[in-house]
Amino acid sequence: MKKISDIFNEKEKTFSLEIFPPKTEKGLDNLIEIIAQLCELKPDFISCTYGAGGGSREKTLDLVEHIQNTHKVPSMAHLTCVLHSKDDIKTIVKNIASRQIKNILALRGDPPMDDPDWQPTEENFKYSCELVSFIKENFNNYFSIGVAGFPEGHLLCKDLNRDSEFLKIKIDNGADFVITQFFFNNDHYFNYVKRLRKLGVTSRILPGILPITNYEGLIKFSNLCGATINAEIKDIFEPIADNKDATIKEGINFAIKQCKELLAGGAPGLHFYSLNKLEPTRSILEEVR
Ligand SMILES: Cc1cc2nc3c(=O)[nH]c(=O)nc-3n(C[C@H](O)[C@H](O)[C@H](O)COP(=O)(O)OP(=O)(O)OC[C@H]3O[C@@H](n4cnc5c(N)ncnc54)[C@H](O)[C@@H]3O)c2cc1C
Repeated sequence: MKKISDIFNEKEKTFSLEIFPPKTEKGLDNLIEIIAQLCELKPDFISCTYGAGGGSREKTLDLVEHIQNTHKVPSMAHLTCVLHSKDDIKTIVKNIASRQIKNILALRGDPPMDDPDWQPTEENFKYSCELVSFIKENFNNYFSIGVAGFPEGHLLCKDLNRDSEFLKIKIDNGADFVITQFFFNNDHYFNYVKRLRKLGVTSRILPGILPITNYEGLIKFSNLCGATINAEIKDIFEPIADNKDATIKEGINFAIKQCKELLAGGAPGLHFYSLNKLEPTRSILEEVR
């Protein structure tokens, strides 16, 4: 199965999707059907998130393996350091390799809701850059490694220049590419790319796109992620917050406009947070690809 870095050598722009492991067996059965539909969109790759803790973590690798083996679509496992010792990580990465999974999104993660005060000790990796180094040192070039980027700065580091410098460390330690947190003002993305290029980062920086389907949910989610809800979003979505169909329609219109502008401005593709649904990603992708 292809590494994402190899796909980049073949394609100027990529279109990828993200899913997450559901908590219930019923949800999992449903997702297996949705994955088949998402694969018909011929994404360049699909990535699967890694839970903050608990049982869903094991499902990540099963889902990634399923996508690769059943649908022959390149796939990427997210992996976080939180709650794992360095020995755990070694075992997990060996397991990832043994399943012929060639792509890892190396993340720090956040402490889970039921253990919010968890702190790393010497037994753990503290930052994702350490996970990147570990993978590179122990598995050489077996994996293509991606990392997370924050165009508006990470919640714990709102100094944009400092946050960009930390991103550069991840790249210097061996990461191949960046996938960003979602954002709604494209200037955040373009300025982020400029900051990183100035620091000498030449890797692809794939913008993360979140189609808006529920305004109230969006506000809560954005607060957790540190993404700004700007006046344009408020003006469009607040008045129709109670109207689900109108929100989805405007969400598609907004995302199409956002994606077209990103691609025209030089973005090397788009990474969609599909939220385990075919729509609205399908409608947006059809218009912008
Ligand atoms: C595309 C994407 C996918 C994601 N997928 C998942 C997922 O599957 N599962 C999940 O639980 N979470 C996921 N997250 C959320 C992510 O785990 C959190 O945002 C987390 O708080 C930061 O992870 P990170 O890998 O960026 O951490 P780091 O890169 O370790 O950064 C964490 C903080 O430390 C600072 N920092 C970084 N390096 C250094 C350094 N060398 N020295 C000092 N400070 C430093 C950064 O500025 C930041 O404030 C995802 C986020 C994105 C954008």
